[in-house]
Amino acid sequence: MISSASMQRALARMQRESAHPHHWVALVDASCQPERIHVIPAGDLREHVGALHCWCHPTQVEDMPAVWEHTSMDGREAFESGERRLS
Ligand SMILES: [Zn+2]
Repeated sequence: MISSASMQRALARMQRESAHPHHWVALVDASCQPERIHVIPAGDLREHVGALHCWCHPTQVEDMPAVWEHTSMDGREAFESGERRLS
């Protein structure tokens, strides 16, 4: 089971990021126990699957072990973290 605290943090994070034109979606991978949440870039250049064997090699979020973040092919993370800017 996913603790409600980590679920709330994950949802808060997604709501924040959904304001970005490149938004992220969460998929619950219920095929395994404990369940995992996959945070996936919506409409990416290549479609992701909500599983650990996704082509992007999802990484586990350090303080939210139930949550796995996928890496976008279009590089949207760089804009969100401020490393790159639209100029
Ligand atoms: Zn992926």
